[in-house]
Amino acid sequence: MADKLRIPTTAPQHGGGTAEYPDPLPIETDASAEAAVGVVREWIEQAIPAEWRIAAEKGVEQLREVRPREAYEQWYPAFASTGLAIPQWPRAYGGLGVSSTTARAIEAELAPHRLGRLNILGINLAGSALLHWGTEEQKRRYLIPIVRNEEQWCQLFSEPNAGSDLPSLAAWATRTETGWQITGQKVWNTWAEKADFGILLARTSPDLPKREGLTCVILPMHQPGVEVRPLRQLTGDSEFNEVILDEAQAGDEHLLGSVDNGWAVARTVLSGERQNVSGPGSGGGLDNLGGRSVHRLLQRAAEANPAGRPADDAIWRQRLMKLWSEHQVMLWTNLRVRGARKSGREPGANSSIGKLFSTEHNKRLQEAWFDMTAMVADAGATEEGRRVRYGFLRSRANTIEGGTSQVQRNVLGEAILGLPREPDQYHGASWRDVPR
Ligand SMILES: Cc1cc2nc3c(=O)[nH]c(=O)nc-3n(C[C@H](O)[C@H](O)[C@H](O)COP(=O)(O)OP(=O)(O)OC[C@H]3O[C@@H](n4cnc5c(N)ncnc54)[C@H](O)[C@@H]3O)c2cc1C
Repeated sequence: MADKLRIPTTAPQHGGGTAEYPDPLPIETDASAEAAVGVVREWIEQAIPAEWRIAAEKGVEQLREVRPREAYEQWYPAFASTGLAIPQWPRAYGGLGVSSTTARAIEAELAPHRLGRLNILGINLAGSALLHWGTEEQKRRYLIPIVRNEEQWCQLFSEPNAGSDLPSLAAWATRTETGWQITGQKVWNTWAEKADFGILLARTSPDLPKREGLTCVILPMHQPGVEVRPLRQLTGDSEFNEVILDEAQAGDEHLLGSVDNGWAVARTVLSGERQNVSGPGSGGGLDNLGGRSVHRLLQRAAEANPAGRPADDAIWRQRLMKLWSEHQVMLWTNLRVRGARKSGREPGANSSIGKLFSTEHNKRLQEAWFDMTAMVADAGATEEGRRVRYGFLRSRANTIEGGTSQVQRNVLGEAILGLPREPDQYHGASWRDVPR
């Protein structure tokens, strides 16, 4: 069936050891942090263009001038082939297989060079799920192209009537002679317009209770049954889409996990997503956030300002101190979740703490930027003014994507505080019998 539909079943083939696709760096899986960093330092000298290194030291803006997005994308597969893009993943799947301590040391060494990961939905959402639930064949087929940013992914979960209550979703997959046929409507699907694959949740057994009759499918996006329609958001950008599925096709080899076990797979994806939304670069990508950190805000507060220095004002000082403290708490929470993930434990409800706290913090931070910039008369006309406006608007979406703040509070209430579950009068009923 795959041939008939031109669904790609093999990964893009690239021999290792070439300049374009070098072999993984010679770092043993049990390498100490010190030994690994030595190898990475040598690689940095040889492989990162000197003008990028110099510009990266000066700042995001300077780097963007010498390293436009297209140039970085072109260079990126060579970087990713070394295993440095995600060092803790196994070597066979595009990483270096090193311990979380060594991976952290490698990341710290690379950090000043601002080698942001590409394909973050592929890595954090699809990648987490494939590592946990994929067959050996699926891992070998999909993970390396994800790491190298050669195949893009999107998440096809939400529907017009199933967002917070995701398990009630209605898109359905039925068996055909050769595989599966999927029909339904998905919505808010980030970057679906450029995705090669979607990680999709569909109903396979409507007579079972809502969480029990779902199946996770790796959906090839380039096929006649998949229509992607862009949606415009508050910022004016169009990061997400609605996706109409009209008898879209998938084979048995595209199932991730077993039939009717999709909710367990979805939980792995959602946990990766919460970490994604709350981690560094959250809220619309690094390109848009560059320069609006809490540290930059503190600097800004100390600069001369036509309306007086905010740093001299008692109310502003309290506000800034609160934001800085929140920032520290956020970093520690993120580190705890990442540590759990790297050592192979499911972050569980901890990722809800990180998601809730950092997205609400980001909203307060962007509001502070907005208020401070408003003190400068001509701010609206400047590049900084444009970025501040964008941040203020985009931070709203941050508290919705990946599960709303209210829903995270429900999760934490139940999982951490031990409060009773939300009442559900249809608990245990077949999905078909629940009114929608
Ligand atoms: C920028 C952005 C990107 C996104 N990207 C993707 C994507 O790539 N793929 C994808 O599948 N989805 C994506 N989403 C969708 C996102 O997961 C949903 O918007 C989110 O889960 C909320 O669902 P909803 O929009 O249907 O709101 P609803 O579920 O209808 O919620 C409406 C309001 O009711 C509240 N509410 C609902 N239920 C409860 C409850 N039980 N207790 C208390 N309050 C409740 C909510 O908090 C919210 O305030 C994205 C959303 C955004 C904003």
